[in-house]
Amino acid sequence: MTGHVLNFLGETKLELGPTDKANGNWRTGRDDAGVLWLVLDKTDSGTNTISEAVIRELDRHIAEAEADLPKALVIRSAKDTGFAAGADISSFDEMGRSGADDLLSDAHKVLDRIENLNCATICVVHGAALGAGFELALACDYRIATPGASFGFPEVQLGLHPGLGGTFRLPALIGPTDAMTMMLTGKTAHTKRAKDQGIVDTVIEERHVAAAVAAMVNGDVDEHNPRVTSRAFEFGQARAIAARQMRSRTEKKAPKDHYPAPYALIDLWEEHGGDREEMQGAEIESFVQLLDSETSKNLRRVFFLRQRLKEAGHGDDDISHVHVVGAGAMGSEIAAMSAIRGKIVTLGDIDTDALGRAIKRAVQICNDKHLSGTETRDALDRLMPDPQGYGIASADLVIEAASEEKKIKEKIFKGIKSKLKKDALLATNTSSLSVDDLASNVLAKSRFAGLHFFNPVSKIDLVEVVKGAATTDKTARRLAAFCGSIGKLPATVQDYPGFVVNRALVPYMIEAMVLMDEGVSKEVIDTAAVRFGMPMGPVTLADQVGLDIGLHVAESLAEKLGDKMPPINDDLRQKVERGDLGKKTGNGFYDWSDGTPYTDADLTDAPDDLTDRLILPMLNACAEVLREGVARDADQLDGAMIFATGWAPFRGGPINYAKSRGITEIIEALRKLQETHGPRFAPDAGWSDLD
Ligand code: NAD
Repeated sequence: MTGHVLNFLGETKLELGPTDKANGNWRTGRDDAGVLWLVLDKTDSGTNTISEAVIRELDRHIAEAEADLPKALVIRSAKDTGFAAGADISSFDEMGRSGADDLLSDAHKVLDRIENLNCATICVVHGAALGAGFELALACDYRIATPGASFGFPEVQLGLHPGLGGTFRLPALIGPTDAMTMMLTGKTAHTKRAKDQGIVDTVIEERHVAAAVAAMVNGDVDEHNPRVTSRAFEFGQARAIAARQMRSRTEKKAPKDHYPAPYALIDLWEEHGGDREEMQGAEIESFVQLLDSETSKNLRRVFFLRQRLKEAGHGDDDISHVHVVGAGAMGSEIAAMSAIRGKIVTLGDIDTDALGRAIKRAVQICNDKHLSGTETRDALDRLMPDPQGYGIASADLVIEAASEEKKIKEKIFKGIKSKLKKDALLATNTSSLSVDDLASNVLAKSRFAGLHFFNPVSKIDLVEVVKGAATTDKTARRLAAFCGSIGKLPATVQDYPGFVVNRALVPYMIEAMVLMDEGVSKEVIDTAAVRFGMPMGPVTLADQVGLDIGLHVAESLAEKLGDKMPPINDDLRQKVERGDLGKKTGNGFYDWSDGTPYTDADLTDAPDDLTDRLILPMLNACAEVLREGVARDADQLDGAMIFATGWAPFRGGPINYAKSRGITEIIEALRKLQETHGPRFAPDAGWSDLD
């Protein structure tokens, strides 16, 4: 039990029962004032989730309260990690439609009984109250938050909407406009916003919680009144107008074909929002239907893929000082992210202006991440420009992120060789050079590896930890733990042309250029990819990455992979020669001078095989890296592609998509493309292992 909850209980002079067979996951007790305490302390996890067992046990505790009415009921969490992280989504898969329907109906009844209990009901929240945890809090009369508490409905990210009363209790509490925005975006309301919106009645330090509970028990706090404006939405016509606006706003971010959940939520509110009872039944029905959808199954898979990658970064992190060589686009952000997460960072570059720019960039990242003034100051204190490279001698890890030229990197490694301290790790951020080739200039090859971050480092979670032939498992584990400690998701892969992600992604960009040569417009190409579910089309992506960088990686892959790569077209080379490098110079394939170009083209006249020509080479490359043992398994690979490139999450990753479309069909489609467009589409031998 957390220290602050213990202190708090001390003040109430209450001894709580244990979590045992009688109490289940809840610690319970009545204090001298007659208040019943239900404190959630899940036995099987350090984080509370609302599982079936939690609900069934709560049912029993509420029945006891009904039989012997307390002065008040207080619900809170005993965990350091916060109130509750939502429903236990691991159980969803086994439950089936009727199982989910039964459980939800029962759970609704329990929450209704809390709401109708003939005494004050109070929820005390520290940390996050998400999803079903938030819904439990909403069933109480009052919510007390301690600083740092947050509330949210992340269900849309799992292809769902709230299913335990959130769709009617939140609108009733804070008004439908704010409530629907919160549920449709999945955004979290932190303490201040939660108070302003009326989600919580009071925000107080932990030491005052007991007094606040006492005040509420004595009726000294006004119950929250729903906003007057929300009354308008009791009328169907008003809801219809608002629903139309919500749909058009949502369409821009999440097309209905790919993400049905927000639309189901809007329909639900529009049709039943005026009648709570109707809404309750409809909420369960709609939730269960979504639960069974491919989209939700795939998005739940994405959630688990993230967990798996996260776990790979859970080892003991022994890196406290990082030295970064090269303060350009990548090095500056790697340094900033490491400093923000508590590392001592020294940052070197031959160009001192680059060091100045790196510090400015670090300030910007701190702002973007909403760090407080103190946190920003502390992070900047830890980040030290070090043009002479004095930090190398005391660093636990040196990350080379200098310009992508073999000679430059070799020179840097030679210079570092004698300076590294015993046991220090050396990593390169190269995206196109072989880790094994570079290792020849490194003294301790067993402690050398690739650490391939993606651009922008501050926004993209994935990092490929690239093992060379001599890299030990221990080195890979230490690097993975370092990635975990700076909030990244490590995927340990083997040295291979393009590693995993670029091996799959670069042909997608280069094929787009072949298509442009054939006369297909860039807008049509990009639209086809976006309609498939990619976060952006391949031409836009090439411009964003930088055409010089794209060309460099493509040339390196072409050299190693031969006719598996699409031919690199002259237009790309000419643009790079002219200095039209994409977004960073304002001009590439698109004109970026007015911001991000908008592409939504009519696909009526697009070639029939356009989408397959873009997407199937990625899948084929994935089959290849699995066969070659470059990626560990299909889950790691799918996770890497999703968290590095935003690969259509609702399809659950490239291999998951291939399996759901049918491996035989994928092979057949590749064969057809091979006949029409050449050997780069030849199906990889690895498909037979996946069938
Ligand atoms: P960049 O050109 O923005 O920065 C490179 C920096 O290295 C420059 O500031 C340069 O002055 C410095 N430098 C050059 N020689 C040096 C030396 N001898 N000692 C110290 N510093 C030196 O390049 P970038 O985009 O940040 O790329 C850096 C590395 O990261 C490359 O290996 C690149 O392949 C890799 N990478 C880049 C991206 C990307 O999208 N930009 C993505 C993943 C990996």
